[in-house]
Amino acid sequence: MNELLVFVCDGAPVRGEIVSISTAWQAVLERRNDPPAVRRILGDFVGAATLLSASLKFDGTLIIQAQSKGPIQLLVVECKSDLSMRATVKLSVDATEISPDASLGELLDASNTGRLVITLDPSEREPGQPPYQGIVALQEHRGNTIKPVASAAEAIGLYMQNSEQLDTRIWLTSNDTHIGGLLLQRMPDSGGHAHLDPQIAAEGWTRIQTLGETITNEELLTLPPQTILRRLFLEESSENGVRSFPPRQIRFSCRCSRTKVADVLRMLGEEEVKGILAEQGAVETVCEFCSKPYRFDAVDCLQVFKTELLSDATRPPSSGH
Ligand SMILES: [Zn+2]
Repeated sequence: MNELLVFVCDGAPVRGEIVSISTAWQAVLERRNDPPAVRRILGDFVGAATLLSASLKFDGTLIIQAQSKGPIQLLVVECKSDLSMRATVKLSVDATEISPDASLGELLDASNTGRLVITLDPSEREPGQPPYQGIVALQEHRGNTIKPVASAAEAIGLYMQNSEQLDTRIWLTSNDTHIGGLLLQRMPDSGGHAHLDPQIAAEGWTRIQTLGETITNEELLTLPPQTILRRLFLEESSENGVRSFPPRQIRFSCRCSRTKVADVLRMLGEEEVKGILAEQGAVETVCEFCSKPYRFDAVDCLQVFKTELLSDATRPPSSGH
């Protein structure tokens, strides 16, 4: 089950999503060797990325990055609008040093350096136009006290509060085989739900949130989205109407390639690459997302820099100033 279900309520200005990921998540994990506490955080953020991607209004990629000077130096989840995703984590300490019950606050140094960066990168971006990026610290300042975030859901909630105009609630959970998530979003009162009286709309948003709050991690991890939707909103559905759209599939997919590694070698420069060849006989690297190994021997490297010369030759001559 790797499904995302989008639904809308007829009696409340609410759009929702339920996600359940199993084999696509296992495909991420089997390529990695993260300690249990890190897997749980990564799983929650993978769930979050799929939920946020499903509401993108353009074709592109949503990237969640958590950065800190804590044990998790960098965590990256990329999800495209077709719901193909990949994820990676870079630790600053040895994996064996991380306790199985370490919290997100500890691992991402949420009381001090941790921050969350969410990037929306349209695939048809104008040249020179930067992708949209939102950044939040992983802590809440209340007067003189700092409250570090305790979970991925709380971190995403902070981000939504800061950057999105729409009230959003999110529930996330994961284990070594499954990820489950629920998102509820209040739609603008003008627009599709303009027919709702403002007071009825406000009551509807409260009512749907109250129903959402009854969801358990157990349900999110074990039940298909359709069943969760039926259970949570049984009464709402019969009294006011809840409509769902055909479920969408989520899959693991890495976009790494030999061509992209060759580009990295070109960026390193011929001298640097020659140095590595002299020392190690070949340039060997592993994709940080899918662990696929790439090996460029001396002949391959020669080819890499020859291609650059070729593409240089096809460029128009410089104007000479
Ligand atoms: Zn890869």
